[in-house]
Amino acid sequence: MSASAHSSHAPSPEVIRHDWSRGEVEALFALPFNDLLFAAQSLHRQYFDPNQVQVSTLLSIKTGACPEDCAYCPQSNRFETGLESEKLMEVEQVLEQARAARASGATRFCMGAAWRSPKNRDMPYVVAMVKGVRELGLESCMTLGMLTDEQASELAEAGLDYYNHNLDTSPEYYGDIITTRTYQDRLDTLGHVRAAGMKVCSGGIVGMGEQQADRAGLLQQLANLPQHPESVPINMLVRVEGTPLADEADLDPFEFIRTIAVARIMMPASHVRLSAGREEMNEQMHALAYFAGANSIFYGEKLLTTPNPRANADMALFARLGIEPEQRAVESAPQTPDPRFYDAADQAPSAGSQPIH
Ligand code: SF4
Repeated sequence: MSASAHSSHAPSPEVIRHDWSRGEVEALFALPFNDLLFAAQSLHRQYFDPNQVQVSTLLSIKTGACPEDCAYCPQSNRFETGLESEKLMEVEQVLEQARAARASGATRFCMGAAWRSPKNRDMPYVVAMVKGVRELGLESCMTLGMLTDEQASELAEAGLDYYNHNLDTSPEYYGDIITTRTYQDRLDTLGHVRAAGMKVCSGGIVGMGEQQADRAGLLQQLANLPQHPESVPINMLVRVEGTPLADEADLDPFEFIRTIAVARIMMPASHVRLSAGREEMNEQMHALAYFAGANSIFYGEKLLTTPNPRANADMALFARLGIEPEQRAVESAPQTPDPRFYDAADQAPSAGSQPIH
């Protein structure tokens, strides 16, 4: 199947829904595994080339010392995790990394800062980063914590393409994970991002001790937003020593795959992204996740501070599965060399954490 057959992800109204009931989502989770995967894969093929996976790179532009108390996050200043904090990087340093990523074929450059929200004094710097990254012909993405509507507009005017802000889990379980900001705060930030005209990247983390009903609740919230997030990261908890979730029990890997498949069915035109937790997933698990509808990965050795499978291991698996990195057309982008050999670990400073916020 050619990529061009899938170049338009124009939603067909009968499957793009925003009115999922909890019971319907739970019924999807309860399907026999093969039925669920067949349904997810069938829908996936209507919207995407099933043999393409989008690849994003990520740079931590400000690491650690975050005042929030997200129980999974080694960047919170409330937990002793041994993480070394780093101040906001210089604009030129960030652009140097972006140039290196571009030279190696990256088409999207994501920047993450461990903040509750950006301070007004930070805004000129992040705006300069966005403009610089855009001038390089790269798509830009940021995750900086909560945004006011003014900050969202400022970033959108600077040319920011995507903003990441996760819902993390269901509204019911949320209070067990974070107490320093509310679920509504998160929804408000997503609303500001949308109103400013940027694309939304929003998902959550599984394996935090939540029930299946909470995983259903998270996906229900995401799919019932007025517009589906363009990217939906589904993370597997990385248990970090020193955080309250360090000793959390393993989640059944099939339950993770089910979550991917249900996300694919509920948000068929969105990129469903594998990010944190990939280090602990073997090749078979990756292959099953791609079959269930995952079609985006964070690429490189480090996903912020969490180890991530090496880029060449990803590409070797792509080759074995007949998967190609998805090429996104970026306006005014220079020629894009083969992205297969970009190793974010060589470019990124040692930094970051779980996918944050
Ligand atoms: S997830 Fe984000 S807001 Fe929460 S502690 Fe980590 S860096 Fe701070």
